[in-house]
Amino acid sequence: MNKVEGEIAELRREINDHDYRYYVLNAPIVADVEYDARMKRLRELEATHPELITSDSPTQRVSGQVTEGVERHAHKRPMMSLDNSYSIDELRAWAKRCEKLAGGRAFDYIAELKIDGLSLSLVYENGVLVRGVTRGDGVQGDVVTNNVRTIRSVPLRLQTEPITPQSSLFDVPAQPLEVETRGEVYLPRAVFEKINRELTGEGEQPFANPRNAASGTLRMRDPQIVAERGLDMFCYQLFFDGEDALPTQFEALEWMKRVGLKVNPHYHRCQSIEEVIEFCNEWGEKRFGLNYDTDGIVVKVNQVAIREELGSTGKSPRWAIAYKFPAQQVSTKLIDVVYQVGRTGAITPVAVFEPVLLAGTTVVRASLHNADEMKRLGVRLNDYVFIEKSGEIIPQVVQVITERRTGEELELVFPTHCPECQTEIVKPEDEAITRCPKFDCPAKVRERILYFAARRALRIEGLGEALVQQLTAPRMQRDSLLDESGQEVVLPPLIRDVTDLYHLAEKRDQLIALERMGEKSADNLLEQIEASKQAGLARLLHGLDIRHVGERTAQILANQFGSMDKLAAASVEELSNVFEIGDIMAVAIREWFDTERNQQLLARLKEAGVRMEVSRAEGEAEIVRFFEGKQFVLTGTLPTLKRDDAKAFIEARGGRVNSSVSKKTDFVVAGEEAGSKLDRAQELGIPILDEAKLLELGEPTN
Ligand code: NAD
Repeated sequence: MNKVEGEIAELRREINDHDYRYYVLNAPIVADVEYDARMKRLRELEATHPELITSDSPTQRVSGQVTEGVERHAHKRPMMSLDNSYSIDELRAWAKRCEKLAGGRAFDYIAELKIDGLSLSLVYENGVLVRGVTRGDGVQGDVVTNNVRTIRSVPLRLQTEPITPQSSLFDVPAQPLEVETRGEVYLPRAVFEKINRELTGEGEQPFANPRNAASGTLRMRDPQIVAERGLDMFCYQLFFDGEDALPTQFEALEWMKRVGLKVNPHYHRCQSIEEVIEFCNEWGEKRFGLNYDTDGIVVKVNQVAIREELGSTGKSPRWAIAYKFPAQQVSTKLIDVVYQVGRTGAITPVAVFEPVLLAGTTVVRASLHNADEMKRLGVRLNDYVFIEKSGEIIPQVVQVITERRTGEELELVFPTHCPECQTEIVKPEDEAITRCPKFDCPAKVRERILYFAARRALRIEGLGEALVQQLTAPRMQRDSLLDESGQEVVLPPLIRDVTDLYHLAEKRDQLIALERMGEKSADNLLEQIEASKQAGLARLLHGLDIRHVGERTAQILANQFGSMDKLAAASVEELSNVFEIGDIMAVAIREWFDTERNQQLLARLKEAGVRMEVSRAEGEAEIVRFFEGKQFVLTGTLPTLKRDDAKAFIEARGGRVNSSVSKKTDFVVAGEEAGSKLDRAQELGIPILDEAKLLELGEPTN
């Protein structure tokens, strides 16, 4: 066997193994992109060495199998797979081929979402569902009729009357003796997540993705359980007595809708391949808003007559192609776990991977969230895992691939002591998070300083992670001075907390001496720090990181109290009387001010000249937030503002918009054709504003 033959044999062996795990066990050990890459390589090798193609090569047949011991049924027409394309260029090349083969005859395309489930054939005789069969190996599949009957969207009997008589694109033909529809059975995402939670709760291996879960479910023996699992189905193909039913795909889809078969609503008739590409790009993003998975767009030639010209290969029709979106799931090896300490002391385990490309970016790390999540995943060092992005920017570890374990894996032990300061860590009973309790833990100190300096707080630009690390670390002398006893001299850190920032100017020389710091950057930083003193009360409150006090609450407190002293003197009751400040928040704020360490911190900030009142800029904001705490109701049509704009205008100024008028309503804004809400407002004596008045009240007065 030469080198190429060897590689081909190895690829076939691997692909067959993956097919078995995927189609029979519903438990793949590589992600689809990785499988597709092997298939592509095999196809390339076979293309350059056609003499090595064998009829049992995975490239020559529809992969998938029938299940042993289950009744099987031969399809009237083979159930094919689809060719894949991973790029727009491939899509264009496919369209060119279609045009060429069509020999100048006009046609258009239908673009449909590629639902990530498994295909199923449903047969209706005289309008009654008689059989549901999986694709199997394409020639024959498993009979799953009883399970299919549990899918609520699958009609047991087809409608004979059109469902929407007014949309008469064409007349519903008298139903033929046998109607076959093919479509995709899938599990909605939320249902999939629920099933996986239950499986892991019972100590079972979860499914890698909704498609595997749907496939496993459809082939279960007990229809009762299948019914509970909540499968669903979208139909996309139609045959009457074994023949293509109607002249176009578009008509077939419309016909299916009319007889009560569920068709995915997002299909689009396209005049050109460029229009198809537009549709593909549009759905690349939009798909994340759906509650089921789509892994691409299926593009089909619309006209059956042209399809017949184009024909098919042994495996897939030439008149259709699947454009696949960039993969959202890949597998990689976990090579380390580091434990990060956050501002509040929360210890977060972070997985470090062998770098892998996922949806266009190289992924090397992902949060494992907490000890419970690590336990739930059952992850070990050196494990292979599936990681997924699915719409979010942050990759997640979704599953450990236990089948790929070699025995080299090591148990991961969650630390008992803080990795930064070695203090014993604590786990509050009602929380999943473990924390380092030490206030001065260097990691917490760094994070607090970063939070204080952040854009939305004191906005000290240039004070990033690396610099804070240097500023808070003990320093070695540049020239390694030795003290009398021959020890290296170690200097204390330049800053220990946020108040020290305001004394950095006194240590300018030492600041300049830091790595990657020169005179210019040092002076820039000092300037920024100086300017931050004027940030004003709201930003300062935000930066101080008082529990439950985020940006908005800080703003509310600043507007309400005007100065730190007044706020510090407020009782829990006074605090909770403020609109939008709840009891828990009020107590947390009070506690913060009652803590001696915080009082000292404030005193030092004050001494350094940090502004403790609302600044002029915030004062303006106060006027802008004129509607703070006020409750509005909108009714009727306003002359210029749309309903949403009026709502945004009010909310931007601190007001709330409610849908019904009550005694608590402060203002009713009424436009033309105002209804009963206006009557009710008059009844209750609530002030009524027109648009002009609303704008006048809400715009800042100079
Ligand atoms: P496919 O999923 O790439 O595409 C064909 C299928 O798309 C059709 O059979 C049909 O079921 C489905 N489909 C969804 N919406 C459709 C629509 N609107 N119109 C027509 N069809 C629609 O092909 P396949 O043969 O089902 O599966 C092969 C794929 O499975 C591979 O590309 C690979 O990604 C994956 N796979 C993965 C592994 C693994 O180990 N990870 C193993 C085997 C297969």
